[in-house]
Amino acid sequence: MSAVMITRKVRKWEKLPGKNTFCCDGRVMMARQKGVFYLTLFLIVGTCALFFAFECPYLAVHLSPTIPVFAVVLFLFVMAMLLRTSFSDPGVLPRALPEEASFIEMEIEAANGNVPAGQRPPPRIRNVQINNQIVKLKYCYTCKIFRPPRASHCSICDNCVDRFDHHCPWVGNCVGKRNYRFFYLFTLSLSLLTIYIFTFDIVHVVMRSVDSGFLNALKETPGTVLEVLVCFFTLWSVVGLTGFHTYLISLNQTTNEDIKGSWSGKNRVQNPYSHKNIMKNCSEILCGPTYPSVLDRRGVMQQDDSPSLTTAATPSSTSDSTVPQTTKPTAPLIPNEHTPDDAKPSIATSTEISTSLTEESESTAHKVPPLASPETDVEASIAKAAAH
Ligand SMILES: [Zn+2]
Ligand SMILES: [Zn+2]
Repeated sequence: MSAVMITRKVRKWEKLPGKNTFCCDGRVMMARQKGVFYLTLFLIVGTCALFFAFECPYLAVHLSPTIPVFAVVLFLFVMAMLLRTSFSDPGVLPRALPEEASFIEMEIEAANGNVPAGQRPPPRIRNVQINNQIVKLKYCYTCKIFRPPRASHCSICDNCVDRFDHHCPWVGNCVGKRNYRFFYLFTLSLSLLTIYIFTFDIVHVVMRSVDSGFLNALKETPGTVLEVLVCFFTLWSVVGLTGFHTYLISLNQTTNEDIKGSWSGKNRVQNPYSHKNIMKNCSEILCGPTYPSVLDRRGVMQQDDSPSLTTAATPSSTSDSTVPQTTKPTAPLIPNEHTPDDAKPSIATSTEISTSLTEESESTAHKVPPLASPETDVEASIAKAAAH
């Protein structure tokens, strides 16, 4: 009598909500719409291939062998930065678990009191003070969390993203806290590569024209015309974009904040994240620490077969229920960039703490919600009893 248990590991990325796609077992994370990203790849690889095929052999012989070498180095750097931006977690914030969501709802209702029928409930906003500036934390109705400062919900990826800059279809991903630096380096290096190819295309045509005339030169290198056209139109957009992001970095501002005018004078709110020093702002964004992903998307879903542990329920204090809206969010429930990672509500940061899913969830007791998803019975377990 023997029993064979076949268990398939279910990783967290397989159960993540939102509209991202994953491959390589969760290592690669992108937006669902990738058509424009493939166009970006095609344009960069295609233009560089034409340059290596038509210009580089001639320029290496007649001008300098370092020209193709530098082009290869620049091309590899551009591709590395593009793939790093496109394939990584931009800083997606995990959604609240059902128990956490119901607790936050309960807290909001307690703070708002009874809203008479027919009247709109007050907006779900909490205020926090950052560098003597009041910053509003808005409630996300999809993710059921109060967004940390600077976070925003991307409608394409359907996720809240920390320090959300914008959703870039050209890189096929959101640009946020975790990949902004690589996005900027991508635009900067692509600008240099475009200028480089464009310049040496012109040099190449001029050198050949001196030898055999302009029309003959174009006939000998049919790829050059195409390259010049692609580079010419890319130059305006990419160099302009790089300039715009350089300006934003110098002010420590995101595209989202710039579009919304978050720190413009009319709101009388100064950017609380700016160091009021261009060099400090640049070094923080380009050389500051890198942030770990809070999704833990390659983590294995835990099977909820262990006896559940109900944590000591702290009674809901009356002060909590009468908290005015101008309070700082309660630390363990509302993710905040100042909250330690292990205190954020996340299936990613799942620890051993879990609560039993009983009718106690209806009670007003303030308890720590389960950080490990209760829906972990998804592990496909097939038990075969072989009795021969
Ligand atoms: Zn959201
Ligand atoms: Zn997005």
